[in-house]
Amino acid sequence: ILQVRHLSKSFGSHQVLKDIDFETYHGNVICIIGASGSGKSTLLRCINMLETPTSGQILFHGGDITEKGTNINTYRSKVGMVFQSFNLFNNMTVLENCMAGVTKVLKKDRKTAEETALKYLSKVGMAEYINAKPNQLSGGQKQRVAIARALAMEPEMLLFDEPTSALDPQMVGEVLEVMRELAEEGMTMVIVTHEMAFARDVSSHVVFMKDGVVAEEGEPSALFGNPKQESTKEFLARFR
Ligand code: ATP
Ligand code: MG
Repeated sequence: ILQVRHLSKSFGSHQVLKDIDFETYHGNVICIIGASGSGKSTLLRCINMLETPTSGQILFHGGDITEKGTNINTYRSKVGMVFQSFNLFNNMTVLENCMAGVTKVLKKDRKTAEETALKYLSKVGMAEYINAKPNQLSGGQKQRVAIARALAMEPEMLLFDEPTSALDPQMVGEVLEVMRELAEEGMTMVIVTHEMAFARDVSSHVVFMKDGVVAEEGEPSALFGNPKQESTKEFLARFR
């Protein structure tokens, strides 16, 4: 679905991403791991065009989305993103949050949008909370609403940037459970995470980033069970 080719990104003289290559196929779950500052969020933000790459290409079904004239809103409706900090609209109810993109970007009528929003809120176990405002919810509930909002766009793939890092430990499981279910249903996902057990269990491919480069990548059993690079071994040792 998506190919990243020779992607580099600098902020001023600081090169944060250096010649990154990777690709995802339909139904793949890619987990990106790596230390703080290694460039994981910047990579996801480039993929979603929240940052403009300094050089390189991002091909979605073969078309380069970094080219002028790409409709970024249409692209973002197909490649959804879930953030660490939820980014819900606090002045809207849960239901309205999940309807907003469907009416505004997909131009569906309100009835269709409401049905779609309800479908995905039920899927993440949040149908009882449709009239609540985000600030009345726990972190885990907010994140499940954020996932429902992304799903309501019926995207082709989803990007997650540390979706459980802002959560109290007892709420991590409920969010990972929803993501695990999506993986089992064949949703294509790219997930930045520090949840190594989840990455090992759920991903089809793991990418380890260090200092803006892909230091090692491979199947989870190989990368976690038998890492080849010293830097990968050192990083994984922190989680034992
Ligand atoms: P973490 O695990 O802490 O989320 P990360 O791997 O996601 O880390 P990034 O957020 O991608 O890392 O940051 C990589 C580097 O890029 C850091 O050194 C950061 O300071 C720098 N950086 C990120 N965004 C900007 C920006 N908008 N302007 C300047 N520097 C930035
Ligand atoms: Mg980050």
